[in-house]
Amino acid sequence: MQYLANYDTLTGVYNRREFVRLATIELARAHCYEHDLALVLIDIDHFKAINDRFGHHTGDKALVCFAAVWTAEKRAQDIFARWGGEEFIWLLPATNQQQARQLVERIRNKTLITPIAVPNEHLAIKFSAGISAYTPGETLEQLVQRADLALYQAKQNGCNQTVIAELPSTGMLRISVVC
Ligand code: GH3
Ligand code: MG
Ligand code: MG
Repeated sequence: MQYLANYDTLTGVYNRREFVRLATIELARAHCYEHDLALVLIDIDHFKAINDRFGHHTGDKALVCFAAVWTAEKRAQDIFARWGGEEFIWLLPATNQQQARQLVERIRNKTLITPIAVPNEHLAIKFSAGISAYTPGETLEQLVQRADLALYQAKQNGCNQTVIAELPSTGMLRISVVC
């Protein structure tokens, strides 16, 4: 029961609920000790096409494999979870956005060379990512929202890339200029 409550049954990584619980603690810690904290939202590119072409079962295997690469590569102090569907989320304590980007790109290379078992083909998983760096006083919801906007930008730019979110103050400035 405890396992089902905290982990995603397909991939074995944390589920969204447990991520929110653990991330809330990390945000408080970052605020209190004035540590950096980076959040990465990850969305597999064209995943529906993998399902359509190879079947749902292979799609499932791709998700398991993708999560396994991340689990192997992430640092022990990081929190990695399935956010929903083909989206994952990664929280990196004491890490700034440039360091987070380097870590994401290292894992991108790993996912590209990690084969998913499909007949007669090398199926490589590609993904887009949005990174937001914690700003003191920000809520988890706001941090995720900024990463989501950056992820959207990564998709708009053509997928298979990482975009760093604007800081909230820059966004607010921009809104005030537009007004
Ligand atoms: P984009 O590059 O814009 O992200 O396109 P996409 O195809 O990855 O995204 P879209 O939202 O169109 O489709 C996501 C697909 O992920 C549709 C859904 O059926 C599939 N999916 C979600 N959860 C699972 C799952 O647990 N297993 C499998 N096999 N497929 C899943
Ligand atoms: Mg998606
Ligand atoms: Mg997708």
